[in-house]
Amino acid sequence: MSIVINKEKCVGCKKCLSVCPGSLIKFDDDGKAYIRYPKDCWGCASCVKECNVCAISLYLGADIGGRGSRLTVEKEADIVHWNIEESNGVVHSIDINPKDSNKY
Ligand code: SF4
Ligand code: SF4
Repeated sequence: MSIVINKEKCVGCKKCLSVCPGSLIKFDDDGKAYIRYPKDCWGCASCVKECNVCAISLYLGADIGGRGSRLTVEKEADIVHWNIEESNGVVHSIDINPKDSNKY
């Protein structure tokens, strides 16, 4: 399981760096993020959640049935969209209002 960072979308805010528990994210000379040791990523998704421009995708491994799917997180007002795109292009979304997450 690992992430991939879209450099075209990255704005160099470094939020992903500040939340990665393994300090795996580095920055190139253009100030764009990249993951240095993808094999060391344990897929916690912290960086994916933190990136406000949706530049980071998490590959969902075969061990959890992901088969090449990618997870991205998009924020829109109070709602967080967890989007899973299958390798065939089909997208599934789970929409959550974090303010409601401790209600149940
Ligand atoms: S959080 Fe997103 S935009 Fe900010 S540095 Fe990381 S990848 Fe780039
Ligand atoms: S998914 Fe977690 S471990 Fe992997 S790069 Fe992002 S913050 Fe670091």
